[in-house]
Amino acid sequence: MRRHPIDSRVDVQVNYLHAGPRHGEGVCRTCFGATTSPRYQLCYQCQKTRDRAGGLLADLVVPITYRNGSEGQHSRDLRMYKKTPASEAARKNLTVLFRDFCMRHIRCVKNAAGVASFTHVAFVPSTKKPDQIHPLQALLTPTVQSLRRIDLGVNTDISAESREFNQDWFLLDRIPDPKPQTDVLLIDDTWVSGARAQSAAHRLKRAGARKVVTVVLARQLEPGFAPAQPLVKRITSSPFDRATCAVHEEDAAG
Ligand SMILES: [Zn+2]
Ligand SMILES: [Zn+2]
Repeated sequence: MRRHPIDSRVDVQVNYLHAGPRHGEGVCRTCFGATTSPRYQLCYQCQKTRDRAGGLLADLVVPITYRNGSEGQHSRDLRMYKKTPASEAARKNLTVLFRDFCMRHIRCVKNAAGVASFTHVAFVPSTKKPDQIHPLQALLTPTVQSLRRIDLGVNTDISAESREFNQDWFLLDRIPDPKPQTDVLLIDDTWVSGARAQSAAHRLKRAGARKVVTVVLARQLEPGFAPAQPLVKRITSSPFDRATCAVHEEDAAG
């Protein structure tokens, strides 16, 4: 039987992708990063963000993969897809990874978030290049073109390098074509502290979004961070399984 081009390009990546995010002890309930102690439900950054945000944050955060430090092919893809000139191979790898995830698991994501169907999509803008369309938006827009796009602006008074949640980081006058239930799929490439993605989610909620679900291509892990060691060990000792996801429900797959 002839293999679909998407399948073969994801299969190649499965050779080097680490095991995907799963809930468990020492894993942040929000972002699937490492907590500083197995006793904690949230990682340091997510706890700090929650304390600052007054409850208006993403309803659900779903990383598709982990990115372990800066080594390895996946990390290279996440870096090279947005370089000038961009790596075509990296662009294709990330596109098919996202499409494959959506085909297999968007129902898991919707069920976990209590969303019947997404009405809008938004991309977390680049704070370093606020005047440019984010390369991820350029890459993935064809995959999510059935959703009405919300374009967030960037408040350049906030340091582009900040790792802190800021409720005024992104700008939005109003949600275009709002629905009785405006449910937004918010997309970003790499979650490091989550500050940008959560600031964007906060802005969308303040503008009237009912649900905001953040899907990121990769949750960054720092292998040198001691409390992350058990998690790094788990994900590097087993392969990526494209048949399951961070919020997988057997009945929802297909
Ligand atoms: Zn977290
Ligand atoms: Zn799933």
